[in-house]
Amino acid sequence: MAEQVFQPLPTVPDHPALEEAVLALWEREGTFEAVREQNRGGPKFSFVDGPVTANKTLGVHTAWGRTLKDVFQRYKGLRGFDQRYQNGFDCQGLWIEVGVEQGLGLNSKRDIEDYGLEKFARKCRDLVVWSATELIAGCKRLGQWMDWGNDYYTFSDTNIEYVWRMLKTVHERDWLYRGHRSTEWCPRCGTSISQHELAMSGVYQERADPSLYVRFPLNDRQGESLVIWTTTPWTLPANVAAAVNPSAEYGLRRNGEWVAVARYPDEEFTDRTIGADMVGWTYAGPFDDLVDVEHRVIPWEDVSLDEGTGIVHIAPGCGGEDFELGQLHELPVITPVNESGHFYDRFGWLHGLSTAEAADQIVGNLGGRGLLVEAGLYTHRYPHCWRCDTPLIFRIADDWFISVRDLRQPMLDANATVEWTPEYMGKRMDDWLRNMGDWNISRRRYYGLPLPFYPCPCGHLNVIGSKSELEERALGGLEQLEELRRPWIDRVPITCEACGEGVERVTEVGDVWLDAGIVPFATLGWQNDEWRPQGYATGAARGLTTADLPDHAYWEEWFPADWVSEMREQIRLWFYSQLFMSVVLTGRAPFRRVLGYEKMLDENGREMHGSWGNMIEANDAFARMGADVMRWQYCAQPPDRNLLFGFGPADSIKREVLTLWNSVKFFVDYANIASFRPSWSALNLEGDLAPLDRWLVERTHAFVADAEAGYEAYLTVDVMRAYEAYVDDLSNWYIRRSRPRFWEGEDEAAFKTLWYAIVQMLRVMAPILPFVTDHLWRNLVLDGPASVHLAGWPDVPQPDRVLLDEIAAVRRVVTLAHQARNTSGLKLRQPLRRLVVEGAAARAHAREIADEVNVKEVEFGTVEAELRVKPHLPALGPRLGRELPAVRQALQAGEFEELPGGRFRAAGHELEPDEVLVERLGHEGFAVASADGVTVALDTTLDEELVLEGRVRDLIRQVNTMRKEQGLELTDRVVLTVPAELEPLLRWEEHIKNEVLAVEIRVDGDADLSIAKA
Ligand SMILES: [Zn+2]
Ligand SMILES: [Zn+2]
Repeated sequence: MAEQVFQPLPTVPDHPALEEAVLALWEREGTFEAVREQNRGGPKFSFVDGPVTANKTLGVHTAWGRTLKDVFQRYKGLRGFDQRYQNGFDCQGLWIEVGVEQGLGLNSKRDIEDYGLEKFARKCRDLVVWSATELIAGCKRLGQWMDWGNDYYTFSDTNIEYVWRMLKTVHERDWLYRGHRSTEWCPRCGTSISQHELAMSGVYQERADPSLYVRFPLNDRQGESLVIWTTTPWTLPANVAAAVNPSAEYGLRRNGEWVAVARYPDEEFTDRTIGADMVGWTYAGPFDDLVDVEHRVIPWEDVSLDEGTGIVHIAPGCGGEDFELGQLHELPVITPVNESGHFYDRFGWLHGLSTAEAADQIVGNLGGRGLLVEAGLYTHRYPHCWRCDTPLIFRIADDWFISVRDLRQPMLDANATVEWTPEYMGKRMDDWLRNMGDWNISRRRYYGLPLPFYPCPCGHLNVIGSKSELEERALGGLEQLEELRRPWIDRVPITCEACGEGVERVTEVGDVWLDAGIVPFATLGWQNDEWRPQGYATGAARGLTTADLPDHAYWEEWFPADWVSEMREQIRLWFYSQLFMSVVLTGRAPFRRVLGYEKMLDENGREMHGSWGNMIEANDAFARMGADVMRWQYCAQPPDRNLLFGFGPADSIKREVLTLWNSVKFFVDYANIASFRPSWSALNLEGDLAPLDRWLVERTHAFVADAEAGYEAYLTVDVMRAYEAYVDDLSNWYIRRSRPRFWEGEDEAAFKTLWYAIVQMLRVMAPILPFVTDHLWRNLVLDGPASVHLAGWPDVPQPDRVLLDEIAAVRRVVTLAHQARNTSGLKLRQPLRRLVVEGAAARAHAREIADEVNVKEVEFGTVEAELRVKPHLPALGPRLGRELPAVRQALQAGEFEELPGGRFRAAGHELEPDEVLVERLGHEGFAVASADGVTVALDTTLDEELVLEGRVRDLIRQVNTMRKEQGLELTDRVVLTVPAELEPLLRWEEHIKNEVLAVEIRVDGDADLSIAKA
């Protein structure tokens, strides 16, 4: 047995086991630290991680983004860039609160207050700690290299202070105000929800609501009434007006009902008028017994004539547009429900009912009084709370807002400096910026950033900008201030800077996107005078991280980020909040380049939901497919389309990984037999190479260049496409064409070339498949860098594209010849006389082609074939219309002219390649195939000699299968016994012996075919 230079590879890799082993090696050898050390002082590449919400274990959705981040940081690492690897967690807000509420069985704000805010805050922190531990473990298993333990946690006092500072700036510029307005409201969470939160996935869901047509009797028009349409019956008690489109025509039905004429075109009307003339009419409200206000008709240009009756019920206390109209027309505002969405006591028989419960009662009541025209169900997309899934309502509330009037244009200008991939996501950001309303930053909750607002009865609004400012102005309570958080901070009143009286903080907390948006300032030390070791590990983050608070010089070095990446919904969330705060503080964008990506669905294209049983836990995916296969699935995905993730696609990826694995295994097996020992310095390939070797070297260089272009464009899908084409060339061309050179074991150039190609390919793929590439690298590279991740990016010359095009042409000819064989039903082992090739510059490779397609001779010339062209009706029909029959007839009669580029001219029309179906029929005895301007004709005539040779090939194949089945080593020699009927084949005896490693062939009467180890 020869010396084993390389560890033999199993037939199939066990991905999870291999990955665990590689993780252990990285840990033991400090590979990641070595990469950072190697790149220290290199050019900077600034990546800022968007925080992951710390309320869960790692899911396959999150793992997608984590993979992309890791891929590009690893790629930049190979290219020598000095980088930051700080991971971050989102730790406050409804995510955390609702999780804790569920765990404790609490279901309202009252429950939380009864439980105790202090205990509740502790439980919230516990959830974050548990989740952060889980997420870190999951990301490590995924292969993500981050500076774990140095993470940022948005609930740190430092992070909170930076948001305070931003808010103070906003206040100084006069952009902060308290608004009294109608807002989307979650009745379960008891808080308003802001406009950008409605962009989160899952917020809009199909839902069936009551659909009511209701009569409002007119006061001074006996027997007449207005008819309105609503899908929110609970808002009817708050009705104060009915809006008509002033320029639309309205008609009076025979039964006394007024509706828009355009809505009922077939109706007979006894009277008609335009909306403008109805303005000022008064009517009896639907619930005058509960609410005593005057009801009147108002004009509104936006009343739609596409649905309902063309008359709109207006309740300024229950709708955004209603509220604004109410302001305009000085209508009373009636808010019927409290924070938890239940009717106030003053609403009589409705008191205490939820909006859903009230709907039934209201329908019944209207029906009983003859006011209901029609009741049904209406299915529409309706917004739900992004956290607890409760249908949202509109409510009037006092909230804190940042005015965007002066910020809109600067934000648009800043976004114009950002390069977005895919490009349309940048346009989405522009659209959002053009349409965004003022930012509602307050939430009536507990575990969140405490808004540092202290409005004084004297009229002055005090805004605190830092913890030290709070301490200076505090009137007491500092001794118990454990964190800048409720309930502790609520016990610290301050002195009003205007009147000197004591004043208390508002109870609201901040929108969580304030926490995340401030990250590029809070973690990089913006305007911080001196570097503070562990200065970020403050408040609730103490003990969880060792993160420093760097100084301003550091911020200058790393801001703005060169690159950030998150899923598309973050356009209106994290990307937006970061951009917002950055424009406020610096006037410019916080990132230069963004990679966004679409949604993840299950492999059948459905949303993944815990309750549907199609959710995949990352741990399950690690165990059943392995991290490399997951990463492949993520990286092969174009970012502008939804990813259909699952175990089914994973199985086909595993099969694709095998192509690479088998190529390396082929190398290892024969290199061990030949005792081939490569050297890292031989990575600069020189010396005499066979033409095929030279081609593989050039092909490898082209792959490096193509993959580099993909990485530089932040498109992993391009890297994966380049890789798949390359591995196909490596395995199905180079190795297949070179096998005999490896079997003989003496062709050093072949071993060197194949080793070179594999090793370069491993370096290129290391960012995407970090485990399997490092595993193979460590086996193949004996004296080079210990890990592929330390090997840097391959530095290769420009590829010889002329040579590559030539072989690409050869491969095209071979593929076509195989197609032609398939149509003729002749298997590849049957040798044929000749192949005629037209249109491919591959004359120099006639021998290879002959070999590959198993013909005696390859001729370059004109293929005699009948060309048949038919119209491709779906494409051509619409374009030609009534001209089509003439063209069809001309084509059928063969009256057409062939033009360059696959085009044709017939009956005076030029036809594009996709407008015709082209078929080439060979002459009798030929099989023809054609594509992209290349045509081949395979001579299918068999003679006795060809048939005999075909049988010889069958025999060789049969014997080699037997060798495998009997478990013979590749080098074992055999004695072959054949029955007498095969004796004629022994005209090829020497050839057969060579091909099956036989030392002797015996003919034995009617014995079966057999082999014995020699
Ligand atoms: Zn909610
Ligand atoms: Zn005051």
